[in-house]
Amino acid sequence: MRFDDIIIGGGLSGLLCGISLAETGRKCLIVSQGQSTLNFSSGALEFLACEEGVSYEQALKSLPGSHPYSKIGAEHLFVLRAEAAGLFERAGIPMRSDIRCNHWRITPLGVLKPVWMSLSEMTFFSKKDLPEKILVAGIKGFLDFNASFVASGLSEAGVDAKVCEVSVRELDELRDNASEFRSANLARALDGYAIDRLAEAINAESPEVDYILLPAVFGLENGKSVERMLSKLDKPAALIPTMAPSVPGIRLQKLLKKRFVALGGTFISGDNVISAEVNGGRIDSIRTERHGDTRFLAENVIFATGSFFSNGLKATPEEIFEPILHLDVDYSGSHGDWFNEDVYAVQPYLSFGVKTDDSLRVSLGGKTLENAWAVGQLLSGSLPLKSGCLGGVSVLSALYVAGQIKLAAQ
Ligand SMILES: Cc1cc2nc3c(=O)[nH]c(=O)nc-3n(C[C@H](O)[C@H](O)[C@H](O)COP(=O)(O)OP(=O)(O)OC[C@H]3O[C@@H](n4cnc5c(N)ncnc54)[C@H](O)[C@@H]3O)c2cc1C
Repeated sequence: MRFDDIIIGGGLSGLLCGISLAETGRKCLIVSQGQSTLNFSSGALEFLACEEGVSYEQALKSLPGSHPYSKIGAEHLFVLRAEAAGLFERAGIPMRSDIRCNHWRITPLGVLKPVWMSLSEMTFFSKKDLPEKILVAGIKGFLDFNASFVASGLSEAGVDAKVCEVSVRELDELRDNASEFRSANLARALDGYAIDRLAEAINAESPEVDYILLPAVFGLENGKSVERMLSKLDKPAALIPTMAPSVPGIRLQKLLKKRFVALGGTFISGDNVISAEVNGGRIDSIRTERHGDTRFLAENVIFATGSFFSNGLKATPEEIFEPILHLDVDYSGSHGDWFNEDVYAVQPYLSFGVKTDDSLRVSLGGKTLENAWAVGQLLSGSLPLKSGCLGGVSVLSALYVAGQIKLAAQ
């Protein structure tokens, strides 16, 4: 089977790369082994953790040359940030962002966190314009969202935050079994009139507040339930991510996959790429576990397999390696140097990833492969938690690589 482009990994970076390529009519295949980290993410994407009033351009100057953003370059990143907004829009995913600087979302602990793009139902505050009186509405018995945590965090930021707990009879059956009372199951039960009654219960608690916050447990498949919920509330309102699984993250994954397939892309899920054949400095084909001897041939191969969490990288006490082709990996020291025993300290292993040149082409035995690229969390050099560049690296590296492939094909 022959494709223009094969993408290994169907998380945020693989899907966006595939969509961008398929939008120009290229024949693309995505092979994805398992759940991506989108299923655990907040639904808000971080570009860089810079303070209010600091522009991205200023913040980018402090990054080392090995960071993926430094390889892409500030000017390119500016264009790609605009491109990303359009791509999400066309996939039916309304995201809010400011192309130049961060806005602030509220975490499940009530802490304000800087973000680049967030789903339109999430908070989009500047630190200066926080509402004065907020009602945080929890759901009775739902342990993955603690309204009191959110309220106490907000109180520290000077907000007058009040808490209530509400419910509707559609949730009673689920509540009997604590392991069933999880965000994705709540989202399945909260539909139609159940939403209207939940909104009524919250409205009854909110006469004296300016704003309402509630857990993100609406709309697994699309944003209709979210719109219904927010439109039935008497006050402006927003959703806050819960503990995993993340309903907004699952929805993002589903809608991006749907867009890729609608553009004619082929998505093979539950299969694992196990090898790739290299000839003359190029990858000719890949093989997967389930398809046995079938060779998938392509002009370009993009590795979007994520980091340790998704098996894009693996570690033994002796080495860190990329499991499909043993691509060159950037890491240093021996086992004891890879992590810090203080869990709150910067963890060196988070910056490990496959080695790339400035165009994000990968290398094997020190030689760059002409038609093979890496995108997303698999890339080295990003220290995602310290610099707060998690989803941004995935989105922008994916569009950067897709752009180069499209340009070369013109
Ligand atoms: C728990 C958690 C929460 C996060 N929350 C946020 C957040 O709120 N905001 C934010 O901006 N970022 C967040 N991130 C960062 C997140 O990693 C990125 O935002 C982004 O989603 C990563 O996408 P990716 O495509 O690079 O990798 P992944 O999401 O890791 O996707 C890689 C995919 O490749 C597949 N794969 C791996 N090996 C193979 C193989 N051999 N064959 C086939 N498929 C394979 C995996 O199964 C997986 O589906 C979070 C990360 C984690 C771990």
